[in-house]
Amino acid sequence: MKKKLVLSLGSNLGNRYAYLLRAIHKIEKYFNSKPVVAHFYETPPWGNENQSRFINTAIYLHTDITIDQCLKKVQAIEKEMGRLKTEKWGPRIIDIDILFYEYDVLETDIITVPHQHLHQRAFVLKPLQDILPNFIHPLKNKAIIQLIDDIDDNTLLFSKTIDNE
Ligand code: ADP
Ligand code: MG
Repeated sequence: MKKKLVLSLGSNLGNRYAYLLRAIHKIEKYFNSKPVVAHFYETPPWGNENQSRFINTAIYLHTDITIDQCLKKVQAIEKEMGRLKTEKWGPRIIDIDILFYEYDVLETDIITVPHQHLHQRAFVLKPLQDILPNFIHPLKNKAIIQLIDDIDDNTLLFSKTIDNE
């Protein structure tokens, strides 16, 4: 049975659009599945505010690859694209995080799904709303649109920057 794999992507260094598009292309190749892609949003940095703005998006695809292998694949893509190990929440050419793996709940040393901060972050929820507005967070028991209503993150998101429909 294939599972829905939901990813968040961000970039705040160099040609951010090009990095995101290249990452999406690689994901399609590595997972042999065409992802559904949200709009792209320009967002202020989060955590460490002393860095340039991000562009964020979200995608999903269906796969029968295990969650551990999914993480390995996205990390391999980050590495192949030249991402260096950087400080937590620091600048990066590409960041690919796993948000959901269907409705699975899992916490190990290497992976936590659903992603532990996703429900607090407008830059994750906003793109997610484009593609999966009614997807239910299995721990919060709330849909993405409800989570957006709940957040304290007043981060101003710049409006959609690419219409990729
Ligand atoms: P961050 O995205 O938090 O800024 P990194 O991208 O460097 O930081 O990821 C740090 C570690 O987070 C990874 O080595 C990975 O093992 C772990 N991790 C835990 N849960 C997840 C997840 N859901 N998606 C991606 N990485 C995760
Ligand atoms: Mg990451």
